[in-house]
Amino acid sequence: MEQPATPLEAVRDRIAQAARIAGRDPAAVQLIAISKTHPADAITPLIDQGQRVFGENRVQEAQSKWPALLEATPGLSLHLVGQLQSNKADDAVALFDCIHSLDRPSLVTALGKAMDKAGRQVPCFLQVNIGAEEQKGGCAITEVPTLLALARDAQVPVAGLMCVPPAGIEAAPFFALLAKIAADQGLAQLSMGMSDDFETAVMLGATHVRVGSALFGTRG
Ligand SMILES: *Cc1c(COP(=O)(O)O)cnc(C)c1O
Repeated sequence: MEQPATPLEAVRDRIAQAARIAGRDPAAVQLIAISKTHPADAITPLIDQGQRVFGENRVQEAQSKWPALLEATPGLSLHLVGQLQSNKADDAVALFDCIHSLDRPSLVTALGKAMDKAGRQVPCFLQVNIGAEEQKGGCAITEVPTLLALARDAQVPVAGLMCVPPAGIEAAPFFALLAKIAADQGLAQLSMGMSDDFETAVMLGATHVRVGSALFGTRG
């Protein structure tokens, strides 16, 4: 087999391989390149190689890096994968094409208002604290139905569920659990899998994998 020429190619190959093993269409998995902490100089090579979907975890950092990059290349899409404060909802709705961190009633309300005001619907993932960890973003599993109902009432579109499983232990059971909850709720999309575990996530049904260090190298 030919060696991949770039980290991007290598990650794409690994996603495709995992999808094939699971009998899935590799095109059904969207690779989000997580560029947090990396400067525009590190991002443009990926854009030049054809990557179109990127993710950041801080609104302010994204606001300083992305407007120029988005202007330079039409057709990019930018996802927010980090915790969002309600007072930044307007900024987030203006800049991002997808928000992966919807996790509480006050944020549903704030995003509903922001989307209404901007006249712009931004698809969201409901983030679930899948390992029931203290101090971790995401709603409790038991809160999922309530939050989905609130989002429906506030006209905040929810595409699916997102999770960051506990560090240092096997992620597969947590991915499988998230997939089961999404299926129970009739949600089609799953944002799960990072550099260390994205192949496992793809095999368990991820539609969006969020990959940073495998593409950009380790963060300083
Ligand atoms: C940083 C981050 C990622 C990417 O992590 P890597 O391990 O570098 O791939 C994915 N998801 C979220 C929510 C992140 O904050």
